[in-house]
Amino acid sequence: MTADLAALAYLVAAVCFILALKGLSAPGSSRRGNLVGMIGMVIAVAVTIADPSVMSYWWIVAGLVIGGGIGTAIAFNIRMTAMPQLVAAFHSLVGLAAVLVAAAALYSPQAYGIVGADGAIRLDSRIEMILGMAIGAITFSGSVVAFAKLQGLVSGAPMVFRGQHLLNLLIGVVMAAAGVWFAADGNTDAFWIVAALAFLIGVTLIVPIGGADMPVVVSMLNSYSGWAAAGIGFTLENELLIITGALVGSSGAILSYIMCKGMNRSFFNVILGGFGGAGPVDTAAGQRKVNQGSADDAAFILQNARKAIIIPGYGMAVAQAQHALRDLADKLKDNGVEVAYAIHPVAGRMPGHMNVLLAEANIPYDEVFELEEINSQFATADVAFVIGANDVCNPLAKTDPSCPIAGMPVLNAENAAAVMVVKRSLSPGYAGIDNPLFYRDNTMMLFADARKMVEDIVKGL
Ligand code: NDP
Repeated sequence: MTADLAALAYLVAAVCFILALKGLSAPGSSRRGNLVGMIGMVIAVAVTIADPSVMSYWWIVAGLVIGGGIGTAIAFNIRMTAMPQLVAAFHSLVGLAAVLVAAAALYSPQAYGIVGADGAIRLDSRIEMILGMAIGAITFSGSVVAFAKLQGLVSGAPMVFRGQHLLNLLIGVVMAAAGVWFAADGNTDAFWIVAALAFLIGVTLIVPIGGADMPVVVSMLNSYSGWAAAGIGFTLENELLIITGALVGSSGAILSYIMCKGMNRSFFNVILGGFGGAGPVDTAAGQRKVNQGSADDAAFILQNARKAIIIPGYGMAVAQAQHALRDLADKLKDNGVEVAYAIHPVAGRMPGHMNVLLAEANIPYDEVFELEEINSQFATADVAFVIGANDVCNPLAKTDPSCPIAGMPVLNAENAAAVMVVKRSLSPGYAGIDNPLFYRDNTMMLFADARKMVEDIVKGL
C-alpha cells in the first residue's frame, strides 16, 4: 500500500472515530455510533498491517489471537456491575503499552526512524517519548490502584497522610527535572528515573481518592490513556494514533468534567483527594421506624396513580430487574399511568450505567430523563418509585454539609406524593451513609430483591 493511500485510509478511519463519538452521545444513535467506530478500527488495523515496514506477521497474529482471545472471553463473562474495574484494568494496559513502546524506541531508535544526523535520537522525538511514557506510567499504576479499590482488593476509603500534597509536589518536581535531563541528552538513566517516579506518583495520586470519587478517577485515567497514546503516536509517527489518542484524551476530560458537575465537586478537589470514604453509618438507623409495604400494597397505589417517576440505581443492576421493570411500566401505561424514568449522572457504578440497562430492556428513550430535566417534576408526581437506588436520592446531600455527598445534586424523590423504595434492607449505599428518605411518613419500604419485588407487583396489577 502506498503512503498516500495509507494516509487517506487513516483519514477515513479518523472520521469514523469522530462520527462514532457523535453517535455515542445519544442513546438512540449509540449502536450506530459503536458500529461506525468498529469499522474505523478495522480500517486502522488493516492499514497498519499492510504497512511494508512490518517485520514479522507472526508477532502480530500472536498478539491478536492472545489479546483478542482474552479480551473476548472477558467481555462475554463480565458482569455489568464489574464494568468500572474492567475499564480501569484495560486503561492500565494502554498506559503500560505506551511505556513499553517508548522503551523499545529508546533502545532501537533506528527501527523507529527517529535518529538525527548526529546519530542520537532527535530532540523532538525525545520530548514526545518522555511525555508519552510518563503519562503512560501514571495511567498504568493509577489504573491498577483504581482497579484494586473498585474490586475491593484494597479499602475504598481514602488513604490520607500528612504531607501527601508536598510529597506529590516533590515527586513531580524531580520527575520534571529528570524529564528535562532526558530531553537534553537522551540519557537512559534519566528515562528510567522518570518511569519509576511516574509509576510512583500514579499510586500516590490515586490512593487518597475515596470510593465515591472513583467514577471521576476512572474517566480521568481514560483521558490520560488517550494522551499517552497520542504521545506514542508522535514517536511512531502514526497520525491515526495521534488523532485517536487526542479524541480519547479530550472526550475523557470532558466526561470527567461532566461527572464532577454531576457530583457538584471541582475537578481539583477530586484530584487532591481525601473524599468519599465509607462514612459513618447512622447507628440509630436500626431503631428508627419505617413504613413497610408488600407488593400488593405497591400495586394498589401504583394503579391509582396518574404519574409515576421511576428512579433506578445500582441495586436494579445487581438484580437485573430492568426487564421486569419494563413489564411493570407497560402494565401501568396500559392502565393510563404516565411513566417517566429519572436518571442521575452517577447512578449505578459507571457513567451511563442505567441508560445501558434501560436500553437493553427496550425502554423508550423519550421516557428517560436526566436529573435537571425531571427534578422539578417530582412535585407533580403521585409516586416516586425508587428501585435499588440510594445515594442518588439521599436528601442529606442538600441538608448536611458534613456528609460525604454534601452538595451533590440529588433526585427530589421526597417531593412526590408517595415514595416507594425497593431494596433488601436498610443498609447504606456506596457512600456509606444512612438515607432519611426511608423514614419519612410518605415513604413505603418494599424490602426484597428488586427483580422479585417488581415481578410480584406486576402479578398484583
Ligand atoms: P447506591 O450504591 O447508593 O445504593 C444501591 C442500593 O441498592 C443499596 O442501598 C442496596 O441496598 C440496594 N441493592 C443492592 N442489591 C440489590 C438487589 N438485588 N435488590 C434490591 N436492592 C439492591 O446506588 P446509587 O445508584 O443510588 O448511587 C450510586 C453510587 O455509586 C453513588 O454514590 C456514586 O457516586 C457511586 N459510584 C458511581 C459510579 C458511576 O460512574 N455511576 C462508579 C462508582 C461509584 P440493600 O443492600 O439494602 O439491598
